[in-house]
Amino acid sequence: MGFRVRDVLPDVFHVEDTLGVCMTLLVGSREALLVDAGYGLEDVAAFAASLTDRPIRLILTHGHYDHSLGAAWFPEAFVLEEDTALAREHGTDFWRRRALDAAEENGFRTDERAFLSRRTPEWKRLEEGRIELGGLSARVIRCPGHTPGSAVIYVPERALLLTGDNWNPCTWLFFPEALPVQEYRANMRRLLELPFRHVLCPHRWELFGRDRLEDFLAGLTDGKLLAAEAVDTGAWPGIRTVQTEPAPGQLLVFDADKLRRHREDRL
Ligand SMILES: [Zn+2]
Repeated sequence: MGFRVRDVLPDVFHVEDTLGVCMTLLVGSREALLVDAGYGLEDVAAFAASLTDRPIRLILTHGHYDHSLGAAWFPEAFVLEEDTALAREHGTDFWRRRALDAAEENGFRTDERAFLSRRTPEWKRLEEGRIELGGLSARVIRCPGHTPGSAVIYVPERALLLTGDNWNPCTWLFFPEALPVQEYRANMRRLLELPFRHVLCPHRWELFGRDRLEDFLAGLTDGKLLAAEAVDTGAWPGIRTVQTEPAPGQLLVFDADKLRRHREDRL
């Protein structure tokens, strides 16, 4: 157990936590930026500090607990304003217990009382725009979809896009807080204006090429959305989840009740 890390590009570390969710550390000459913090079962701040001697700033791609609970190891953390309430909600004991359940399922032992008592810091407002780290920078881009306050991060010096949960080879767009699928698609397709060549996402270890995301977005046609078939996601009763495969090996699971079926009410 513990963290594993790989330096995927110069000064770019992809870090996987105990339960398999990833975060990305960008190391500039003056400052380092950690994008997401994982479940926080282990001291992610200490681990990140073992990779760099620069001061580390923490930002989140969105407020879900598997990305935000690790913020409890940091003095401060930033998230887009639209996800502040969600991040607060996901810091409650309900979600902490879900993390503990996941830990138990994975055979990871932790001090439950310490985990439950470790509070996340008050969320600070993440602003869109460029964060200069020294020789490396991160552009925060608002991209509502997976959640209303989802951010993607573009690192121009490495032609790298960090998608957050807006894109994984299996993308989940069915939570109550997720946007309607066509709105999500429009926001995601706008990202293709950026000249990125590499993509990292939180639920995979690999560095992907741009073509993977392009294939996914090109394949996400109205026809595919309308033909999506019912799928049981298990733990989310009451949501009419359907699944489509826009590109080979890539899945999108979304809420059928949020699908706009008629051209006239399309965005
Ligand atoms: Zn998420």
